[in-house]
Amino acid sequence: MTVFEPSSEIRRSDLPMYLVEDPRAPAGPSSRNTFGGRPILPAGEDWPECYCGARMVLFFQLDVPPDIPRFGGDHLLVFQCPVHNDAACLREDPQQFPERYWEKPRIWGHPGAFWRILLHRDPTGPADEEEPHLLSRALVLRPELETETVWRAALPGNTNTETHPELSVGRSGFKVGGLPRWQQDPESHRCACGAEMLFLCGLPEDVGFQSRPGQPEQPDSSYSYAYVLFLGNALYLLACPEHCHPAAVWPVLQH
Ligand SMILES: [Zn+2]
Ligand SMILES: [Zn+2]
Repeated sequence: MTVFEPSSEIRRSDLPMYLVEDPRAPAGPSSRNTFGGRPILPAGEDWPECYCGARMVLFFQLDVPPDIPRFGGDHLLVFQCPVHNDAACLREDPQQFPERYWEKPRIWGHPGAFWRILLHRDPTGPADEEEPHLLSRALVLRPELETETVWRAALPGNTNTETHPELSVGRSGFKVGGLPRWQQDPESHRCACGAEMLFLCGLPEDVGFQSRPGQPEQPDSSYSYAYVLFLGNALYLLACPEHCHPAAVWPVLQH
């Protein structure tokens, strides 16, 4: 096992990044940046359902700021089944994802995807209905300077870069753009269309999305008053920069 130690911090003003914040204000009926709220779905896409038949919960949606490379101007939506709360663990480690991996992922314990993550630019409006499980809150994107920390393997006296691996991570937080804050080894995947998937959005561990009073508790949540995504693992959304399909996004999980 390689032991890493921080070796430098670099301020990356060239990498636009935004922190996702919850000012605890209610979302308006036409808000585009929300926790819960009315989903702004791609054209022709209904409110997603899990393979179990349950209608999924809209956890959050946001307009990706225009200066985020490859994804600026897209609308991102993140849904998960209210019953199925699990990690999405690949049964193999494919660099190359198969066709329609967003519906039929090769993961342990599930015959299909219990989440749906969408990215689109269609001129659609908010759904008539509001997400019933979660409080509808305004989500705010605050620009922040990305800080890259480079970790080098702790090999005393060794200055040969070939045997001196590096690990580079961005700052922590619920963020859009910038660099992923990897907690374990970096992960990369190639979309079914052949494009190398790029980091778009990251959540640290145990981000809770506050539920409405009277709603059932989420199975296996660490909170009684909030829902979590993928058991509360740290989440890294890697998206297809070619936009080959609105659901061509993969949730990498670490803890
Ligand atoms: Zn389900
Ligand atoms: Zn693709």
